[in-house]
Amino acid sequence: MSEHKAIKVALVGNPNTGKTSLFNQLTGLNQKVGNYPGITVDKKVGKATLSEGCQASVIDLPGTYSINPTSVDENIVLQTLLIKEHKDFPDVIVVVADIENIKRNLLLYSQIKDLQIPTILAINMADQLDKKGVEIDLEQLKTELKSEVVLISARKNLGIDKLKEVIENYKDLDTSALAHISGKIDKPYFDELKQSFPKLSLYKAWLYITQLDEYNGLDDKEVSLIRSYKKDKSKLKKYQHKETIYRYQQINSILKKTYKVDKSKARDLRSKLDKVLTHKIFGYVIFAVILMMIFQSIFDWASIPMDYIDAFFAHLSTRTQEILPEGMLTDLISQGIIPGIGGIVIFIPQIAILFLFVSILEETGYMSRVVFLMDKIMRRFGMSGKSVVPLISGTACAIPAVMAARNISSWKERLITIMVVPFVTCSARLPVYAIIIALIIPQDRVLGVFSLQGLTLLGLYLLGFFMAMISGYVLHKTLKVEGKSFFLIEMPDYKLPSIKNVFYTVVEKTKAFIFGAGKIILAISIILWFLASNGPAAFDAAEENFNKSNIESGLSVDNNEALASYKLEHSYIGVMGKAIEPAIRPLGYDWKIGIALISSFAAREVFVGTLATIYSVGNDDEENTTIKQRMAEEVNEITGEKLFNIPVGMSLLIFYAFAMQCASTLAIVKRETNSWKWPMIQLFGMGLIAYIASFITFNLLS
Ligand code: GDP
Ligand code: MG
Repeated sequence: MSEHKAIKVALVGNPNTGKTSLFNQLTGLNQKVGNYPGITVDKKVGKATLSEGCQASVIDLPGTYSINPTSVDENIVLQTLLIKEHKDFPDVIVVVADIENIKRNLLLYSQIKDLQIPTILAINMADQLDKKGVEIDLEQLKTELKSEVVLISARKNLGIDKLKEVIENYKDLDTSALAHISGKIDKPYFDELKQSFPKLSLYKAWLYITQLDEYNGLDDKEVSLIRSYKKDKSKLKKYQHKETIYRYQQINSILKKTYKVDKSKARDLRSKLDKVLTHKIFGYVIFAVILMMIFQSIFDWASIPMDYIDAFFAHLSTRTQEILPEGMLTDLISQGIIPGIGGIVIFIPQIAILFLFVSILEETGYMSRVVFLMDKIMRRFGMSGKSVVPLISGTACAIPAVMAARNISSWKERLITIMVVPFVTCSARLPVYAIIIALIIPQDRVLGVFSLQGLTLLGLYLLGFFMAMISGYVLHKTLKVEGKSFFLIEMPDYKLPSIKNVFYTVVEKTKAFIFGAGKIILAISIILWFLASNGPAAFDAAEENFNKSNIESGLSVDNNEALASYKLEHSYIGVMGKAIEPAIRPLGYDWKIGIALISSFAAREVFVGTLATIYSVGNDDEENTTIKQRMAEEVNEITGEKLFNIPVGMSLLIFYAFAMQCASTLAIVKRETNSWKWPMIQLFGMGLIAYIASFITFNLLS
């Protein structure tokens, strides 16, 4: 076969019928997740090879129950399929149904078929036919629907080749309408309608009148006609209602002839499991236990690759310094770029492992039970059961978490979720917590078993979580944002997770982090490097002065670390640290902490590295203990006491728990909310909370 233009295929279907699984099956890694212009709904497109020389470009449209749009998602589906000029307008539509909910699936199919675009019905989950006691007369169904129907299993890779073949030959498909709504509702009315719009199919004209407020692709005369038809609202409502009833009648009669299900076979396991997992008490206990196990394994598993990554980049940095000729560029690479990239890569293990678990829980169907279970509670805090996944994801990184809030259909609930997610303890806070806790909390045990340090860490996690809930409550009561919420949750069957789907989810989320946070972290690292290695006029003379003063005081000149510290003090960032000292004095901090604080407004994890430099300690692993020791020895210039005592340490912990110190999160919130207003509220609101809380902590304890 010669070169073809790729066939445009659109996957449409109810949520949870397996569209994404089919999409993964068809496209493999050849996929791209983007955004619909102007709105943050995921848009997935990919390339599939149907046969040798025949390519298709596949789009995975958002799940929808009908093409009457009641949500942004459904509107996208309607716009894509209705408007020929639309960039994603398909050559052929594959409606994905599943063997169990076929009646509801066919309502959508019946509407889509009436658009008179080549349409294929793919009935998914064929691997479960026996288990569910379902029998389908495929040939009869094809005749009744005047369509090609293919039984597939996206998970088991059954029937996919047949589906590809039918897609390839889409030109042979019957494109006549199925329902012929006109005669059943009001024949004269629809006859007139048909005559008014000779260029449109009857159903399309009807959809323009009943569903749309934009009329791309119509001429002025048609638009004004549509406007006049729109006037009789009550009639339209009545007819739409009749339309749905009629479609269901037709579907029922078709299914009677073609579809049998033996209910006794199905559902017992599911209902038993549901009873336990959504139980008033056990449900929560089980969820808590699962969460604890997940976090435990993240800590256990991720620390190993993280140590390697850390060591690798440290090594790379020293090697570059050694190999490349001395100079500005080498410094930029070895002290700006390499640590910057390392600072991104180090978070990948935690993020990947967390999303591995989250996607397994989603795949098995358990997450839907959690959503159901948690909805009542979350609602009091202005969120929905669906906020649980973003909040859990926030323990890895706020970026994929903010994006995961896309699943929440009510705008207000989604916005509140996005606003409070940064309070959740993310992995970038851990290195900061770890070093401060080690400094100020003794290694004692409580009741002989619990380590005091461990309990402090747990306390900080809970603190972040409660703060998220409290601010959710406050926003819920104060925000005047419109957003009706219907609680419509699918309770899919329990399933063994599909490895393929889990794999793609993990890849997708990790990519979102790397490209969302990565660019910014890298850019900021370079800026910080610049600010720390350059300074006002005196800076250039720093080395000389340093040597001079050392010689005068009789110290060895050969002290690189002390020089680095001296340089940092006189760099731009050192000057900034000193400038903010009066403002942070009340929290117990000096200008050195000020430097670390400023640099961690870009990314928290920079804190430890900055302190390490300023306390003139190398970054090598063996000297890790020395960072701690040096910090422990640090003396308050005014009081002459130890600087990192309990009041200062606790004040710092509280500051890091509450402050919005992450430029990447701000950027992602800007993107997801389409406005600078919300990230700015986060930046200043959380900053204020952090400042006040640290002030109180410091003054109470000292
Ligand atoms: P979407 O919401 O339509 O995109 O559906 P997904 O592709 O996310 O699939 C929903 C659930 O059905 C997932 O847990 C899939 O693993 C599962 N699933 C998809 N295809 C099949 C199949 O052929 N057989 C079975 N047993 N499960 C499937
Ligand atoms: Mg999907």
